Amino acid sequence: MDKTALIAETGRCVACGLCLPHCPTYRKTQSEADSPRGRILMTQAVAQGVLPANERYAEHMDLCLTCRACESVCPNQVNYGKVADEARAMIRGTQPMPRMLRLATWLFERPRLMRFGGGLLRLAHKFGLKHGPQVSQQYRWQDSYPAESAQGEVALFLGCVTNAIDAETLASAIYVLNRLGYTVHVPSSQGCCGGLHRQAGDRTGAEALEANNQAAFSRYGDLPILSVASGCGARLAEYLPKRAQDINVFLSQAQGWDRAKVQPLPAKVVVQEPCTLRNALDAKGSQQVVLKRIPSLEVVALPGNAQCCGGAGSYVLTQPEMANRLRDDKIIAYQTIESDYLVTANIGCAMHLASGFNRAGEAVQIMHPVVLLARQMGFTGEI
Ligand code: SF4
Ligand code: SF4
Repeated sequence: MDKTALIAETGRCVACGLCLPHCPTYRKTQSEADSPRGRILMTQAVAQGVLPANERYAEHMDLCLTCRACESVCPNQVNYGKVADEARAMIRGTQPMPRMLRLATWLFERPRLMRFGGGLLRLAHKFGLKHGPQVSQQYRWQDSYPAESAQGEVALFLGCVTNAIDAETLASAIYVLNRLGYTVHVPSSQGCCGGLHRQAGDRTGAEALEANNQAAFSRYGDLPILSVASGCGARLAEYLPKRAQDINVFLSQAQGWDRAKVQPLPAKVVVQEPCTLRNALDAKGSQQVVLKRIPSLEVVALPGNAQCCGGAGSYVLTQPEMANRLRDDKIIAYQTIESDYLVTANIGCAMHLASGFNRAGEAVQIMHPVVLLARQMGFTGEI
């Protein structure tokens, strides 16, 4: 989006204020500058050269989670996500990228190094380390996982954080898809989705990662590209729009369930709905549809799902105070329900919530819905 398009997009905001009560940061600070309307009007003024892209502007834009709750209720369909991306790119033109973000973007460009780091962390946990995210078993991916029956074919997006610390979810997805009759292709040249770079305002870095994935998946024609992290999926949908799909959405509409054997699970699961699934991918409730495939499982939505949990990509690094305040709301909401599992379709939310429960001294089993489903279908770690 160039400056003229940005001014036109921000000009579509009629300042009605309907989005304000849905904005988590506005709810916490009660400041117009931390509201969608305030941010859109400031961005318009910066794009027009009326205001400078200075530190104060950056402060209010950086506090935005890009949760897009505002976008989903806007009667004029202002594309806030794109406005925020452009605003951050403008800020990078005048303000250097914070050191923490520089390090994170550098790391995300090196998925092998992230996987190596994940392996080290797993080893350290085995030797008694109590801190840091739990790391699942890692896998050496094959190019293809053929299904016995021929229901169809899909390509799988690995995602750098998921592949480094939660490969169990990826293996579970392959297992379930194979059982339903879908052959799964895993292009080895794929890399980071570029979401963190966009969020950091690094347009050039994001475009390079996007081009890499477009080339990696072009080998598979028009096959759907499935993502098990809704944060990555939302970004992929921006540049592979006809093909990118969240695994929950795909499984909700998949064929082959008649031949799948799913064991009953007499338990209760609470569903946290990531903003990227709800607002960016417009797939509200898709996790519940997938979980309903498990007989005897009681599926309950986490109260307050419309509000972001604070685990919004690099937000946990740059805005830890607000990220923790929003997470506290989730912990309190979860404590009102007795349950066996908490599921979420986004690795960022899972890690952020897990660290919050850890700090609160609560042992909560947090996982992706497809992990629970795969277990009930007989997955024991081997694909
Ligand atoms: S709801 Fe839409 S039009 Fe109304 S203030 Fe918010 S962004 Fe602007
Ligand atoms: S994206 Fe989320 S935090 Fe940012 S302005 Fe919109 S509702 Fe508020």
